[in-house]
Amino acid sequence: MNESKVNELRGKIRGEVITPADASYEAARKVYNGMIDRRPALIARCHDAADVMAGIAFAKEQGLVLAVRGGAHNGPGLGTVDGGLVLDLAPMKGVRVDPKTRTVRVGGGAVWGEVDHATHPFGLAVPSGFISTTGVGGLTLGGGVGYLTRRYGLTIDSVLEADMVLADGRFVTASPREHADLFWAVRGGGGNFGVVTSFLFQAHPVGTVYGGPIFWPFEQGPEVLRFWREFILKAPEDLNGWFGFVTVPPAPMFPQEYHLKKMCVIVWCYTGDHGKAADVFKPIRGFLKPAMDFAGPIPFPALNSMFDALYPAGLQWYWKADFFREINDQAIDLHMKHGAQLPSLHSTMHLYPIDGAAHRPAKGDTAWSFRDANFSETIVGVDPDPANNPRLMTWARDYWSALHQFSAGGGYINMMMDEGLDNVKAAYRDNYSKLASIKKAVDPTNLFRVNQNIKPA
Ligand SMILES: Cc1cc2nc3c(=O)[nH]c(=O)nc-3n(C[C@H](O)[C@H](O)[C@H](O)COP(=O)(O)OP(=O)(O)OC[C@H]3O[C@@H](n4cnc5c(N)ncnc54)[C@H](O)[C@@H]3O)c2cc1C
Repeated sequence: MNESKVNELRGKIRGEVITPADASYEAARKVYNGMIDRRPALIARCHDAADVMAGIAFAKEQGLVLAVRGGAHNGPGLGTVDGGLVLDLAPMKGVRVDPKTRTVRVGGGAVWGEVDHATHPFGLAVPSGFISTTGVGGLTLGGGVGYLTRRYGLTIDSVLEADMVLADGRFVTASPREHADLFWAVRGGGGNFGVVTSFLFQAHPVGTVYGGPIFWPFEQGPEVLRFWREFILKAPEDLNGWFGFVTVPPAPMFPQEYHLKKMCVIVWCYTGDHGKAADVFKPIRGFLKPAMDFAGPIPFPALNSMFDALYPAGLQWYWKADFFREINDQAIDLHMKHGAQLPSLHSTMHLYPIDGAAHRPAKGDTAWSFRDANFSETIVGVDPDPANNPRLMTWARDYWSALHQFSAGGGYINMMMDEGLDNVKAAYRDNYSKLASIKKAVDPTNLFRVNQNIKPA
């Protein structure tokens, strides 16, 4: 890039503007998924909406492809781009809790651990995911499935408004009262419509919950899955529990006999009265004796960050995703077959319940269409060594293909790789054409195209 042009941008942006000539470039260009190795021309660290406006204007003027980065966790690396301009929102981390209205204003570059930290002393939480290092921006804009989904809905169901900078440089607030179409679109439609500089969330009374992982031997998978698929859909909404196939890490909290063993796990989060927890967990502990039981009282931020250390930044990740209405016996047989072949210590398959409060909005109420699905399946091949990537990818693709015959038709946009327009359309179903019309109205030239892209109608 022409040095004087870069300096021009530096003069307009409070944050750093980093180029390949800077010592900080190598660290600054990295995203969470070590499989992604892109070299942007410029990385602009944005501190406020004014920086975002200046960055958008510069990208348009210079004809640079624009990528927007929140928490940098996206599987296919949609927070960065080769040869273009990255607007890195990481400095925009402000979190302000209003205990009177139980609302939380969160900067567009915050990660969930920062939100949990700020809300917990007030006895509040915003529905997020299952790990605390993930960005608020990408997770929210794509939907948000987590420990509080059955009780309080998807993350988008707690969004009250979003401050945004649009492709034409305008700053707007999208809410039910202003720019209602845009508000509809950003609740599930990803980063297609503009840069969200801050979100206003409704928080909910969540403090110390009763939860954690309960493990059973892998071989008991059919019994565990049969129990779980019935139990969780009938359970009260204050109980959440996702199912996984995992390999037990060789860590001191696990008895040595289980180290490196493949097991079934259900990770629970009960937000109801702790006095009732023993009764609520009786059937869970009673249908089969667990091999390891770590469920108990735990502060919500601790539960939400329990897996952070197991998954540090820089591992290789390959994702596949699908939604399901039911998990039939044939699907269970296939899960057992492919789960037995987890290709590495970190690789895993998760099934998240997405019923309860997440079913209350109709499929046309937000851009997130699969309100009638009960389970979100995620298959991830994960390993530190890039040499294992072909093995991870083959396993994840084969597993996904075997189960896809039972799918509800699409998958969760935030848990897939860059899989092309047909898969984006499948994720939005009937909502796609409305999304494409709104995209045409606010971003007719598709400036925001480094994302799970919705083409302007
Ligand atoms: C370890 C791990 C655990 C995860 N767990 C969960 C989970 O429990 N539940 C769940 O729902 N998802 C989960 N995800 C998926 C996650 O939601 C997506 O990876 C999401 O894209 C991450 O958002 P980010 O801001 O960190 O990513 P980024 O890579 O920064 O951005 C992702 C996309 O969102 C856009 N974007 C980000 N911020 C903004 C903004 N402020 N304004 C406009 N566009 C923006 C980017 O342009 C890009 O297209 C997990 C991912 C990982 C890696």
